[in-house]
Amino acid sequence: MIGDLRKKIDQIDNQILDLLEKRARLAIEAGVLKKDKPIYDPKREKEILDSIENRLPGVFPKSTLRSVFREIISGCRQIQENSRLENKTKKTHMIISSNDSQSWIKVSRSSQPEDSEFNVKGVILGGDDFVVIAGPCSIESKEQSDQVAQAVRSCGAKIFRGGAFKPRTSPYSFQGLGWDGIDILSQTAKSFGMPSVSEVTSIDQVERMASQINILQVGARNMQNFDLLKALGKTDNAILLKRGLSATIEEFLAAAEYIVSEGNPHVILCERGIRTFEPSTRNTLDLSAVPILKERSHLPVFVDPSHGVGIRRWIRPLCRAAKAVGAHGIMLEVHPDPENAKSDADQALSFEDFELIMDDLSRIPKDHTYR
Ligand code: PEP
Ligand code: MN
Repeated sequence: MIGDLRKKIDQIDNQILDLLEKRARLAIEAGVLKKDKPIYDPKREKEILDSIENRLPGVFPKSTLRSVFREIISGCRQIQENSRLENKTKKTHMIISSNDSQSWIKVSRSSQPEDSEFNVKGVILGGDDFVVIAGPCSIESKEQSDQVAQAVRSCGAKIFRGGAFKPRTSPYSFQGLGWDGIDILSQTAKSFGMPSVSEVTSIDQVERMASQINILQVGARNMQNFDLLKALGKTDNAILLKRGLSATIEEFLAAAEYIVSEGNPHVILCERGIRTFEPSTRNTLDLSAVPILKERSHLPVFVDPSHGVGIRRWIRPLCRAAKAVGAHGIMLEVHPDPENAKSDADQALSFEDFELIMDDLSRIPKDHTYR
């Protein structure tokens, strides 16, 4: 007996679901007819709710009906907004790719409306938490590596970075410790319970690096090293892709597409400053790239204020700005003795600087939107 009644209830639920689907589709059509007018129409929503409340009384109290329909209306509104955004993104792609085929498809927001989120050893990237990656520019010794890991972890950094293969402008500058640096980084990261990041500079390093390091970084100078990108696309590691020194946002997304199209969806985009005419800073940190990348792509977007500005005392305000503008996280270079760092000394943060930044960040709400 109760079984029969439950079956009927299930059938009705299915009908309600079908009707909700129909309602949402009509709402999408109505959204299109609204053209550029705002989707949210409080007058119309009030009319619907009032007319539902004014129907002949049934078993449901008016307040219940009102709250059920409020949810339905706001759900449909959300669907209208998403569909409008998707159409806009599609149109932008069409303009960009005019006579060429679109060079980034899998990473685009229209192919996946929801944000990509991935878990690297328990740290969620692209999710609700603002993630801080920190560590020295270069791993210089086990002692230095452990000291930095200890300091940054105690302030709340979640991922430990360190360069071992350093792409330096001058061949006479410190080139990194190579595999010895990778061994040190991976030991430190393991003993402090943090996932690791390091830059991979050539295809022949990929296999070994992928087995020792959790997140493989593609440096700005290699953003368009397509063979390297393809090789990384065949690994299972997350990839931190830096924006090239003079790369447009389109080229940056196309580089990410190279990795994803080979089967590895775990790409993190990292804005690290671009080359402009301005000599006061090492690079010009293009924070406007953050909302643009978030609108065009579903991939997590990080900012590297250390390389972005290149001067220690200006990094702190840009960390605050990166969080406020909607980045999913930042990456910073920290050193026990900043002035004597073997690479990028001008931008190396002391432990105290890092602590102040983390304290600032705790007071800035994360922006969850992508517009
Ligand atoms: C780095 O992160 O150490 C680095 C070399 O960065 P970029 O490739 O952005 O210069
Ligand atoms: Mn550096």
